[in-house]
Amino acid sequence: YDDRDGWIWMDGEYRPWRDCTAHVLTHALHYGGAVFEGQRAYNGKIFKLKEHTERLFKSAEMLGYKIPYTQDQINDACMELLDKNNLVDAYCRPVVWRGSEMMGVAAQNNTIHAAIAVWEWPSYFSPEARMKGLRLDISKWRRPAADTAPVHAKASGLYMICTMSKHAAEAKGFDDALMYDYRGQVAEATGANIFFVKDGDLHTPTPDCFLNGITRQTVIELAKKRQIKVIERAIMPEEMEGFEQAFLTGSAAEVTPLSEIGPYNFEVGDITKALMLDYDALVKGEA
Ligand code: PMP
Repeated sequence: YDDRDGWIWMDGEYRPWRDCTAHVLTHALHYGGAVFEGQRAYNGKIFKLKEHTERLFKSAEMLGYKIPYTQDQINDACMELLDKNNLVDAYCRPVVWRGSEMMGVAAQNNTIHAAIAVWEWPSYFSPEARMKGLRLDISKWRRPAADTAPVHAKASGLYMICTMSKHAAEAKGFDDALMYDYRGQVAEATGANIFFVKDGDLHTPTPDCFLNGITRQTVIELAKKRQIKVIERAIMPEEMEGFEQAFLTGSAAEVTPLSEIGPYNFEVGDITKALMLDYDALVKGEA
């Protein structure tokens, strides 16, 4: 991703893509001092841009640093960057990180840097292919407790176990992994939230030690519009035996059906399909 044409917004200005480098002594690289966002543009418009930028600022605040720009400046840069790169269907990645002035755990005086990159992201799978459902492995890594890590921040350091889980799953031929939490309850996938369907109701884990995804909240609203009951609660792994359908939600994942999680099988059923189409219509502005 580093050697190509295009524009990246970095520290307040638009710079050529391949010039956007950080020093090797950057705190973010050594100690995980970074937060980021991930959002999608559909037909030239970024879905829930304001919510994503608000979360970026909250994440930074939770890690104790102040972004030296306003939320409006970040929003404007995201939109302008799409134009500058001639993109309409794209992924947009803002990232904020602690720089390289102090070399050690403490980094109070380090410059806070910010960058935004956008790249093309057309719908990769046809609806027919996604309709088959993804296969998930069950990770050995667990989401940490809220007093172990800043679990509600979209902080880069929290993704170490996500990458390890995803790599282990892919090595075994799975698409992704389901992670349990520190109590052994069902939590989420490596970059997406999870929902289940049983007897016409939706069941989803309470997001008390992982991100309450913007897509998760959107899908809960869409379900309510369809008079589908949504139950947020602790879900134990054994319960997956009795669930009929399962799907993931995320800005990148959108609404993606699951066919397997470890030993458990699911059908790609009507409720999943309906929410998939509702979400698609909403993000594309047809709703
Ligand atoms: N959990 C994790 C670990 C994620 O990385 C993401 C993607 N940001 C989500 C959940 C879903 O969040 P959202 O719907 O806001 O993209």
